[in-house]
Amino acid sequence: MNQPHDVHAPVAKQLALLGMGLYGAFAAVSAAAQVAHMRQPILTETTTKISDHVWEIEGFPNIAIVVGSRATLVVDTGLGPKNGDTVARAASRLAPGNSKLFLTTTHFHPEHADGEPGFPAGTILIRDTVQQQEMETHGQQMLDMFRGMSAQNKELLAGVVLRTPDITFGQEATLDLGGGVTARLLWFGGAHTKGDELTLIEPDHTLISGDVVQNKTIPFIYGDGGTPTSWLAVLDKIAALNVAHVLPDHSEPGDGSLVAAEHDLISEIRTQALALKRQGVPADVAGTRISAELKKRHPDWGTTDASGFVKNVYDDPADPQ
Ligand SMILES: [Zn+2]
Repeated sequence: MNQPHDVHAPVAKQLALLGMGLYGAFAAVSAAAQVAHMRQPILTETTTKISDHVWEIEGFPNIAIVVGSRATLVVDTGLGPKNGDTVARAASRLAPGNSKLFLTTTHFHPEHADGEPGFPAGTILIRDTVQQQEMETHGQQMLDMFRGMSAQNKELLAGVVLRTPDITFGQEATLDLGGGVTARLLWFGGAHTKGDELTLIEPDHTLISGDVVQNKTIPFIYGDGGTPTSWLAVLDKIAALNVAHVLPDHSEPGDGSLVAAEHDLISEIRTQALALKRQGVPADVAGTRISAELKKRHPDWGTTDASGFVKNVYDDPADPQ
């Protein structure tokens, strides 16, 4: 596997385990970048305001808390119930008078969804149907894999049993949080996973984007998730929302220009990869070349290893073989 060399030993060990799991080398590098950015799995109650009704807890992953006059929505849980409890306390501190707490998840991976048991009784859990199906198919496998990565993960995920959501939706659900604040929960198709959920907060024009729109981050498709072409189609739908603020799950928040930047990045990698494929260049060679090119253009990024994504372009059933 492609072992990152700029991480300290325990992380390298975690990454080696990751590489032996479902992720493969690319995710290991991606995880290394997250570690390099000091995003910690033990979340705190410290919140930063993103827009009028949206706050962030920065960590692994970033959590969004959306506050209306009657209800609060949390997007993502943190890894395990202890983090879920921290997030729920931060949410109740922001809006002590709100009687209703909604919880949704950007996708089914453990750091996004498996802190749910730490939320108080009465929390209304909602997610899109495709994501729930992925959870039922792969959730336990992911949980076991994450438990095997480190002693800390094992402890954080001890005894986790996942429950069925209170509400599932097909393509869209709207939550009225009171005081004119609404959350549109959207499923636009597969990208990082099949069930990626996007949350648009109005009147803020804020998008909680999961892995689908990130900042200075190479795209990564997990397992049998989306494809490069389905990801681009999702981004076209997001572009039509004209958002002003973007809060990604594993990188810095930014303005609406992140949506076009993500589209440009994926298009560019895809165009280059397809050109090399037509020339008969093997996928791994193309991956190395394109990654080196990206490194030159983006020296400040945590990693520019696009080899996994290049392979996804080569294998994309939407492209002529
Ligand atoms: Zn993920």
